[in-house]
Amino acid sequence: MSIVSPWKQDFPVFNADAYPNLCYLDSAATCLTPKRVADAMYNYQCYSHANSHKGLYYLSANVTEKVEYARTRIAEFLGASSLNEIVFTSGTTESLNLVAYSYIETKITSKSNIIISAAEHHANLLPWQRLCQQYGASLRVAPLNDHGIIDFSQLVTLIDSDTLLIAISQSANVIGKFNPIKQICQYARQNNIITVIDGAQAVSHGNINVDDLECDFYAFSGHKLYGPTGCGVLYCRMGLIEQMRPYQVGGGIIDNVSYQSSHYLTGPLKFESGSHNVVSIIGLLAALDYLNDISWQAINAYLERLSGYMQKRLAELNFIHPIVRSGDSAPYLYSFQMNKVHCHDVASMLDIEGIAVRAGHHCAQPLHKTLGINASVRVSLGLYNDHTDIDRLITGLTNTYQLLKIE
Ligand code: PMP
Repeated sequence: MSIVSPWKQDFPVFNADAYPNLCYLDSAATCLTPKRVADAMYNYQCYSHANSHKGLYYLSANVTEKVEYARTRIAEFLGASSLNEIVFTSGTTESLNLVAYSYIETKITSKSNIIISAAEHHANLLPWQRLCQQYGASLRVAPLNDHGIIDFSQLVTLIDSDTLLIAISQSANVIGKFNPIKQICQYARQNNIITVIDGAQAVSHGNINVDDLECDFYAFSGHKLYGPTGCGVLYCRMGLIEQMRPYQVGGGIIDNVSYQSSHYLTGPLKFESGSHNVVSIIGLLAALDYLNDISWQAINAYLERLSGYMQKRLAELNFIHPIVRSGDSAPYLYSFQMNKVHCHDVASMLDIEGIAVRAGHHCAQPLHKTLGINASVRVSLGLYNDHTDIDRLITGLTNTYQLLKIE
């Protein structure tokens, strides 16, 4: 079968002398960077850089305008009703910690409980775990069904009048299936429970509408969307920002300070103390433009087709086993174990062939323990992959098994 990426040439790393014949199958960890994004960052840094939101001179005012324009575009991308609902952070991890310490910490008591799912990345577990430990609250874990998605009916049984927060991923990083987050968020809203969605993995599928989902918070990282690291986003539903306190304080977030007290700004800027990571924000905006120009419809149609091919070819290998039963939807990633061969050995052997996959617990140790395993191999797709990558993976896995299986 021939599935060829029309976008591969947009990514300069495939022409890098240092990585000839790169087969990159780790986009769930980070997406590679299109030239257009790198160029936008280079041009900004060379020709337009200044501090934003501070200077009154033209160069600085222009940078402020760029950052606020990026905020507007991200609001549009997420289906948010206002740019004032968009906070720039350093990534999903910071976004989730921000919710924890700016908001949830002001509400939590020893009676409270917080619900997460069994599949969460440590970024969407540790902030809640620590708060619960600190305040004597309880952390409840919603199980997954056989298809690896959150079991709504089981989750509902964990909810009671002391449930403060439900923090779940739209799509988890090891399993990759989409959770019924709309159903969960709507139920939570009807019961006055706050919801936080970790969108780190889902964001590269586009088509997000936070209004429609009815979530309170939505977090994602720019580098999972073909942008740079160092820039992320937290959507905070209108009305919540006013109730939140900055968890990190410093320059740029106040309207009045004396030696003894401060009065903070009201909008998202109150969480963006210090100097903005403007070059990364510019990169994220360029990534959005790049993806919009291709169109989400074309991106998803391509990746679904490629993913279908990947699932089919991997299913032909009787010596590898997906860590959860496959459902009918085709996620862009596949996590598995190989009979009698350690996951790290699989990844190291593939690396010799120039094939980059992830092996380990993928920052989801409790999930692996729940599944009764300590590690898995994960392959994940991006815009630059095509059928030759999958064919090379299949050959690499077959060779690895032949060489390393212990009889
Ligand atoms: N949540 C999920 C589901 C993720 O996949 C990741 C990144 N692997 C994160 C959170 C954390 O993202 P970041 O490291 O960009 O903060």
